[in-house]
Amino acid sequence: MAQLKSVDAVIVGAGFSGLYLLHLLRGQGFTTRVFERAAGVGGTWYWNRYPGARCDVESMQYSYSFDEELQQEWSWPEKYSAQPDILDYINHVAEKYQLSKDITFNTSVCRAHFDEISKQWKIVTDTGEVVKASHFIMATGCISTANLPNIPGTGDFGGKIYHTGKWPHEKVDFSGQSVGIIGTGSSGIQSIPVIAAEARHLTVFQRTPHWTVPARNVPMTDEYEKIWKKDYAERRAQMRYSPSGSLRSVAPIDISALDVSEEDREQAYRERWAAGGMTLLKSYNDLLTNDAANETAAKWVRQRIAGIVKDPKTADLLSPKTYPIGTKRLCLDTDYYEAFNRQNVELVDIVKEPIERITLNGLKIGDRTFAFDSIVFATGFDAMTGTLLRVDIQGRGGLTLQKKWEAGPRTYLGLMSEGFPNMYTITGPGSPSVKSNMMSSIEQHVELVVDTLMHLRENSIETIEPHRSAEDDWVEHVQEVANQTLFPKANSWYMGTNIPGKPQLFMPYIGGVGAYRRICEEVVADGYRGFAFEQKISEAAAAE
Ligand code: NAP
Repeated sequence: MAQLKSVDAVIVGAGFSGLYLLHLLRGQGFTTRVFERAAGVGGTWYWNRYPGARCDVESMQYSYSFDEELQQEWSWPEKYSAQPDILDYINHVAEKYQLSKDITFNTSVCRAHFDEISKQWKIVTDTGEVVKASHFIMATGCISTANLPNIPGTGDFGGKIYHTGKWPHEKVDFSGQSVGIIGTGSSGIQSIPVIAAEARHLTVFQRTPHWTVPARNVPMTDEYEKIWKKDYAERRAQMRYSPSGSLRSVAPIDISALDVSEEDREQAYRERWAAGGMTLLKSYNDLLTNDAANETAAKWVRQRIAGIVKDPKTADLLSPKTYPIGTKRLCLDTDYYEAFNRQNVELVDIVKEPIERITLNGLKIGDRTFAFDSIVFATGFDAMTGTLLRVDIQGRGGLTLQKKWEAGPRTYLGLMSEGFPNMYTITGPGSPSVKSNMMSSIEQHVELVVDTLMHLRENSIETIEPHRSAEDDWVEHVQEVANQTLFPKANSWYMGTNIPGKPQLFMPYIGGVGAYRRICEEVVADGYRGFAFEQKISEAAAAE
């Protein structure tokens, strides 16, 4: 029988995480295979091509920091980059470090089983390839499995159906069309103004109004770029130990919102609203921990909505009232509320009366029918765990990841799960991941994994795996920290509530990027505290 191909590491995914992993592992002499289901690199930026798709972290910070030459040579056209520009950047990175030649595209990993005798992972792809690897690294991203709700009749629709997270490569032209869009999270909020400007008519179906603040995106200026590039390394170092993995243009105020006068608060909120971006939530130190403090910001933003949206009924419908501001991901928009002042845009509340079914011509809600040429689902993702649990992963004793995580994800540091030796989840549940600038968190996890593999190799260690007690403590700590905040008060994909039947608990680690990095550094300095090692048995010893 032919021997199976064996490598040091198999990486799943060729987004920002997978590419950096490949670059570092290859540089350290590890044999590596990368499997990517798409036809190209880019991960989330490969798939999310919907109109208006844009990053809500500034480009100078949402980019790799590992190579001074790369960060100096690249110029971003705008403050917040649009999807095509981010994809251009990722392709440039793949070309600069000659990464694509080691990536197998159009190939999904569908099974990974750990063999306790050989201490290797056996990985099977949907093209029938089988590879053995000492290390199995899921670099599959946090929001990579689209959620298409099970609305009756979806297959009956005679027009075109799109999902923002699986957008076609060719330009979708909505000119002259009547379009329906379901969902008003970040993807809906970004695409609604753009589709509204093109379509004949746009109907927006809203279940929960999301909080959104202006991005104030502008073309990149030479001056701003120079400010960053002058001391890029120093700024990146600050980002790595900051709470969110990024630096704010307006400094946070380290006092309670309730300890200042209403005039002072108004001034602070006005400044941050004018500056744009996420800084509004950092106006005071208790906006995400104290209901009354939070409500001061929420009320102020509701007044802005009422000031922009001309129809009071529509303004009221767009104003969130059922959960604190910032506890679902805060959205950054460009002219979102303004879009509802257009004659061709209609907002339909589907809380009291949900969509009953999709029909041949459109959709039906109670006795109302809507006719559409196209329907856009901006309905989000089975986030954080969806992609991991769709792969048939089996660890020791045939334990499946589905079984292990049936009550919610269980990891130590968001990086590894007990029972699954040498399997790593880059920005996995239980790490800062989506509650941070993803680029800072990706680089940290990738470097930690590569350092770990080098440590194992240098010390003839065959496997690494968390102790159950360390994992239990970490899972508890992640929830403890979340419970000190207002985040669990919202139904959000952070909590898993957007997917029917999914366990509900706060999945990312919200203790801060810098604090988390320090914890990881201490764990390593303390001889990988909380991890168990299995030493390689030398051939001589094995023969005795
Ligand atoms: P999302 O935030 O989960 O929003 C999904 C929307 O669809 C929500 O309004 C949700 O309503 C609605 N929905 C879901 N199922 C539905 C159903 N069965 N019937 C009716 N409505 C339904 O998803 P997203 O907008 O794609 O964003 C996901 C995340 O991706 C963001 O939070 C962000 O982290 C990331 N993202 C970032 C950017 C950026 O960088 N600017 C852009 C896009 C996405 P409910 O709220 O009631 O559940």
